[in-house]
Amino acid sequence: MKKQYEKTVVQKFEDTYCDKCGEKVEVAHDDAFRFRFEHVTGTNYGNDADGNRSDLDLCPTCAPKAVEVLKQNGFNVQETSWMI
Ligand SMILES: [Zn+2]
Repeated sequence: MKKQYEKTVVQKFEDTYCDKCGEKVEVAHDDAFRFRFEHVTGTNYGNDADGNRSDLDLCPTCAPKAVEVLKQNGFNVQETSWMI
């Protein structure tokens, strides 16, 4: 009898925790996941700049919920298909 082994590789986002549920952001090796939210304001002075930045890290469970909340509140979230 031939034994079959299933290998599951989990991609870990080093030191990234979801800002909604607090869980560590982890994605299975063959799943595509990325969530980016960053709002930057301030002033540029040549090569120098300063100001404020708001950012949000979300896990694969909370990210689609945030997108849905934005849509329900009138934000026109663009959805497109992608491939490499
Ligand atoms: Zn979460």
